[in-house]
Amino acid sequence: MPEFDRKVLEVLREPLESGHITISRAARQADFPASFQLLAAMNPCPCGYLGHFNNKCRCTPDSIARYRSKISGPLLDRIDLLIEVPALKETELTTAQAAENSDAIRTRVEKARDSQLQRQGKANFSLGSLEIDAYCQPDDAGLTLLKTAISRLNLSARAYHRILKVARTIADLSGDVAIKPAQIAEAIQYRRGVD
Ligand SMILES: [Zn+2]
Repeated sequence: MPEFDRKVLEVLREPLESGHITISRAARQADFPASFQLLAAMNPCPCGYLGHFNNKCRCTPDSIARYRSKISGPLLDRIDLLIEVPALKETELTTAQAAENSDAIRTRVEKARDSQLQRQGKANFSLGSLEIDAYCQPDDAGLTLLKTAISRLNLSARAYHRILKVARTIADLSGDVAIKPAQIAEAIQYRRGVD
């Protein structure tokens, strides 16, 4: 990742968390609204072929670790979904897959959003930690799973809250009132990224 991109991403840390950004110049300070959705992509290693089915990557573990450490832990902590997207083989590219169409997905997403507004007056992403305690609590089995994941994956308090919000959203998309352990497990998976 070029140095410039890395610096831009680090500047986004504050607005990602708070939804606004403070610009300070000499004696002046101004606060601007900056609520946005961040989508970002990076290669898994410097050459881009780590995990590729052709086994072309020749990067050393050291160079991969150095490359990935350019994105700081605190920034990664503020990203809800980290997903590895493996390269497709030619046969997978040329074979049409049956997929849900966008209209059906849109209806499901709108329904999930409506249920969030009805339950708590705002979308899940903007819930504070007290609201997460109130609206995003899993059952005992889900909680045990989450505690195990936190100690095994060494997750921060911020990651813990984000997992609960993501699990709440997965449950909302399924139309479930209670968060199931499988939904907690799915949300945990989205924190692991390309580890
Ligand atoms: Zn590589």
